[in-house]
Amino acid sequence: MTYFVDHLKKRIHRRQFAGDACGFLSTPIGKREFTDSHTYILQLEEKDAYSECLNCQSFQVLAEQV
Ligand SMILES: [Zn+2]
Repeated sequence: MTYFVDHLKKRIHRRQFAGDACGFLSTPIGKREFTDSHTYILQLEEKDAYSECLNCQSFQVLAEQV
């Protein structure tokens, strides 16, 4: 699972599911980051109050149900 971090909006997306509905299109390239590290993501969530993107999360749930 690769994560896509929007540092401007402090939002964490799943690279696989990220799309127009996520609203990161206005975020400059320099504020976007890709990572495979779940530890890093947890750190962002706990220390810097980043939140998971609901749009990507709903896709995630669907994928797990199939
Ligand atoms: Zn998203």
